[in-house]
Amino acid sequence: MALGARGEIKVNKHLQSSVEHIWAVGDVKGGPQFTYISLDDYRIVLPQLLGEESNYNLETRRVYPTATFVDPTFARVGFNEKEATEAGKNYKVAKMPVAAVPKAQVLRETSGFLKILVDPETDLILGASFFSYEAHEMINLIALAINENISYKSLRDGIYTHPTMSESMNDLLEMI
Ligand SMILES: Cc1cc2nc3c(=O)[nH]c(=O)nc-3n(C[C@H](O)[C@H](O)[C@H](O)COP(=O)(O)OP(=O)(O)OC[C@H]3O[C@@H](n4cnc5c(N)ncnc54)[C@H](O)[C@@H]3O)c2cc1C
Repeated sequence: MALGARGEIKVNKHLQSSVEHIWAVGDVKGGPQFTYISLDDYRIVLPQLLGEESNYNLETRRVYPTATFVDPTFARVGFNEKEATEAGKNYKVAKMPVAAVPKAQVLRETSGFLKILVDPETDLILGASFFSYEAHEMINLIALAINENISYKSLRDGIYTHPTMSESMNDLLEMI
């Protein structure tokens, strides 16, 4: 079985190894090593095992968020500013301190910032970087918006429960 430079099992976009009837899922295939990516890998492999039609593979996998559990948590999805610039994207930025979020004040978890990039022509969200208490929860909302082509205005105008960190979308996206 063919291995990569770091000893990982080499796979094609269908997660098939160099041995036709053997697939590799999860960490062992290299690439992003997260529990939820290992889980998602089965969505690529299962239809093949069942002989079902599927266009889901590593190339059609949509954006997924990541979280680094420092304090506060750093979570991101899609483009950050550097990547957007390098990709020649036109973008507007909304940024605010976590200290402006009521729940953060209540819990005295006020350090960090929230940042979202929006394409001003389509109103679609290009990416977000949250360095914040509960960033790892909030980022899933943004990933959903990106993958489902939900306008930033829908998040801006959403009616959120209070007190929550996600209600910060009202104020943050007002800045676009
Ligand atoms: C310290 C740490 C913190 C992490 N934190 C996060 C996090 O917060 N969020 C996140 O999404 N991911 C996190 N990860 C990554 C996550 O744990 C992995 O991406 C995930 O477990 C990969 O799942 P897997 O099924 O591919 O492999 P594993 O979970 O490693 O499972 C592989 C299994 O195969 C078994 N095995 C190995 N060799 C053999 C053999 N020869 N025969 C039979 N069985 C064998 C192993 O014992 C193991 O049970 C973390 C990883 C580490 C190390």
